[in-house]
Amino acid sequence: MSKFWSPFVKDLVPYVPGEQPKLTKLVKLNTNENPYGPSPKALAAMQAELNDNLRLYPDPNSDLLKQAVATHYGIDAAKVFLGNGSDEVLAHIFHGLFQHDLPLLFPDISYSFYPVYCGLYGIKSDPVPLDDQFQIRVADYAKPNGGIIFPNPNAPTGCVLALDAVEQILKASPDSVVVVDEAYIDFGGETAISLVDRYPNLLVTQTLSKSRSLAGLRVGLAVGHPDLIEALERVKNSFNSYPLDRLAIVGAAAAFEDREYFEKTCRLVIDSRDKLVAQLEEKGFEVLPSAANFIFARHPRHDAAGLAAKLREQGVIVRHFKQERIAQFLRISIGTPEQNQALIDGLGEL
Ligand SMILES: *Cc1c(COP(=O)(O)O)cnc(C)c1O
Repeated sequence: MSKFWSPFVKDLVPYVPGEQPKLTKLVKLNTNENPYGPSPKALAAMQAELNDNLRLYPDPNSDLLKQAVATHYGIDAAKVFLGNGSDEVLAHIFHGLFQHDLPLLFPDISYSFYPVYCGLYGIKSDPVPLDDQFQIRVADYAKPNGGIIFPNPNAPTGCVLALDAVEQILKASPDSVVVVDEAYIDFGGETAISLVDRYPNLLVTQTLSKSRSLAGLRVGLAVGHPDLIEALERVKNSFNSYPLDRLAIVGAAAAFEDREYFEKTCRLVIDSRDKLVAQLEEKGFEVLPSAANFIFARHPRHDAAGLAAKLREQGVIVRHFKQERIAQFLRISIGTPEQNQALIDGLGEL
C-alpha cells in the first residue's frame, strides 16, 4: 500500500494462477495445458511471420483470425470478438456488459477469475450453489439478475451441461446477457454457438489455450450477436487497439484451419482421461464425470492437501483449492499416457 495508489487498488483481490515452476523435470498436471503441443502448421505460420514486418503494428481488427474462426463455425465474422487470451475477453465482458444494478449470477464453484473481475469492476454478484452432486441446477438461475456466466464444462468440476439445459437458462433470462465460458468444450461438450442466431443475449467464449494447445500465445474469442460484439469492440478499442500481435494472429488462424490435428489431439486427451479415471477409481477415488481435459477427484480416506504434497515430492504437481466446499478434491490435468502413469505411480499404495 502506498500513497501513490488509486484508492480502489488497496481492496483488489487478484487471481492466483497455477504454479509455473522453473524446474522443467516436474510432471505438470496443474494448469490444464495440453500435453501435445500446437499444430505444426501453426508453428510454421508463426515462423514465416518472424520477419521485418514485426516493425509494423498488427491488424487492429485481426480480420484474418476472425475469418478463420467464422469459417470454422460457419458463422459471420461480425459475430466474432478476439482478445489476448479469453481472460481478457472476459474482462471486457464484465466491464462492458455486466455493470448493472442487479447482481451477476455464477456457480459457487466455478472459475475463480469471475469474482476477481467483479472486484475490479465493482460488480455485485450472487453465487448460486451447485447441487450436492456438484451439478449446475438450471432452475436456480431463473431469478432476477444483471447477467449470468458459467463455464461449460464447469471448472474445476469438469461437469458438462447439455445444450438444452443451456437453452433453458437463456430462455429464463431474455433480458440479461448469458455468457457460456467454453474453455473446455472441445473435450466432450456441445458448443452453444449454434444458439447465437436465436438468442441475442448469448455470448460464447472460447480459448486457444486448452484444446489448441496455445496457452503461451494468449488468444481467446467470443461469439455472439453483433450488438454484443459492438459493445466489446468499444471497450477493447478504449483499452488496447492491438491485443493480438502478428504472430498470434497467423498462428491462431493456422491452428483453426488445421482441423485434423485438432481433432486427433482432442481424441488422445479424451482417451487418456477415460483410462486415468478408471485407474483412479481402482485406487478408491471418487471422480466427478468429466467432459474436460482435467478431472476432479477426492479420496474418502486421504486428505487432498496431503496427497498434493506427497505427489509434489514425487515430482508431480496437481491443483488443490482451499475453498471449503472443494478442499478435499484434487484437480488433475490430463497429461500424456507417460505423465498420467507418473501420477498413478506417485500415488503409490494408498
Ligand atoms: C483456462 C480458462 C480460461 C482462460 O483461458 P485463457 O484464454 O488462457 O485466458 C477461461 N475460463 C476458464 C473456465 C478457464 O479454465
